Amino acid sequence: MNLAMILDMVADGMADRVLLGGREDGLTGAGLRTRATAGAAHIVSAGADRLVYLGGNGPVFPVALFSATLAGVPFLPLNYRLSGEQLDEIMSRQNAPLVVTDTPERTPGARTIGVEEFLRLPDGGPAPHQAYEIDADSIAVLLMTSGTTAAPKSAVLRHRHLAAYLFGSVEFGSVAETDATLVSVPPYHIAAVANALSNLYSGRRIVYLDRFTATGWLGTVEREGVTHAMVVPTMLARIVAELQTSGRQGPAHLRSLSYGGAKIAEEVVGEALRLFPETGFVNAYGLTETASSIAVLGPDDHREAAASSDPAVRARLGSVGRALPSVEIEVHGEDGKPCPPGEVGDIVVRGEQVAGEYVEAGSLVRDDGWFPTRDRGYLDEVGFLFVRGRADDTIIRGGENIAPAEIEDVLARHEAVLECAVAGVPDLEWGQRIAAFVVPRPGHRAEAQELREWVRERLRGSKTPDDVVILDELPTTPTGKVLRRELVAMVQDDAGAPAGG
Ligand code: ATP
Repeated sequence: MNLAMILDMVADGMADRVLLGGREDGLTGAGLRTRATAGAAHIVSAGADRLVYLGGNGPVFPVALFSATLAGVPFLPLNYRLSGEQLDEIMSRQNAPLVVTDTPERTPGARTIGVEEFLRLPDGGPAPHQAYEIDADSIAVLLMTSGTTAAPKSAVLRHRHLAAYLFGSVEFGSVAETDATLVSVPPYHIAAVANALSNLYSGRRIVYLDRFTATGWLGTVEREGVTHAMVVPTMLARIVAELQTSGRQGPAHLRSLSYGGAKIAEEVVGEALRLFPETGFVNAYGLTETASSIAVLGPDDHREAAASSDPAVRARLGSVGRALPSVEIEVHGEDGKPCPPGEVGDIVVRGEQVAGEYVEAGSLVRDDGWFPTRDRGYLDEVGFLFVRGRADDTIIRGGENIAPAEIEDVLARHEAVLECAVAGVPDLEWGQRIAAFVVPRPGHRAEAQELREWVRERLRGSKTPDDVVILDELPTTPTGKVLRRELVAMVQDDAGAPAGG
């Protein structure tokens, strides 16, 4: 199976249904194939060996994705927020790219085409490649990892991985014609690719929001009669704050709201459930390398956990749910064997959608089929997965392994703490010391000593932060992942040398 076959299914099965953009003037299933065919012809005539997309959210995103498919070249969406240097470095690794962008000056030397022009290319003849000619094992999409833990790498997603994700999660043409989904996740993230494919395949019209603000998001949901939406945790936190401030509730016609891509504070989920009483929530956990979601906490799980007085069931609000039927997830100990329920280890995954491959490093899937996510976590008795953070973020203080998430969860329960992150800072005596970075709740004073005591009373003494740094905001990626490297650098710079040195 390949993405061109999926495009054919959508274009033939939903030829007249508006699937992209406004209800009145959007692009239909047939229109999408016409645009993608014209785009593909242009890519081939430009002699390009990949299609780079450097722009915002919009209907051009799926058009460009399928144009690349029909041209037989990989699609590489890039972050428009990259610095000039970072962009130059990535572009220098591309051989003959065609770039769809409204800022051609950012990619000197490369062939470019503007967004509007790309969407208005003249209809030509047949697509350069027919669906049956495209190898399921060829590369469909390249995505740069966000580089929160290491230098960004290009993750490789082949047609068969994306098709496996789609068939494992969505039913073709299964939704009502009146359904609409609002996509506000960044276009260079796996969630954007997964959302484009799953909504088009199920027949749900996609409305894009380019620059996210909570009021803009809420306004679009109202105006467009949005029934489904996908956000990252920082966006959900802002939407919740906006509703709290304005004393409003979320619109009842929003039937489903998915969030994921980074850890979320349980308090935000609790408030969201209260403010959107008619909406079903979905927490989706996945990696670029696994072609998006591999575990979900669904609407019933949310409701059941929120209403339960059993602490084990209630705790599930802080989990990422259970493995999707199309994948297997296990937690392995240092011996490589599955851990008993409740024991923290390495989260591994296997299944047809798991790509686990990079241009720079080849495949990291083990011979036995398991791919190490590099996340630490545990499974409960009934298979709910709890993510405790990245293995690379584990703090080793005096030989003891400490998960930042454990300390963050305790700190987050203090009334003066709005947001927090914990990281290991190089230290001569302990190897690493524990630094906590705290953003105080408006109107509260966060006292370092009091917060240290708060943690000491609730966790072992060795997990008490050595340093508490009060900040106005935490540095994050656009998907809401905390940039711990920047936090550590802050402490090191302040001291002029590694803290404790
Ligand atoms: P890099 O490898 O450069 O650091 P990245 O791994 O951050 O990049 P992604 O593939 O976007 O790039 O992120 C996947 C990671 O995001 C997961 O391994 C996990 O740590 C985190 N994550 C994703 N979804 C969730 C979720 N629902 N809850 C908690 N964490 C999540």
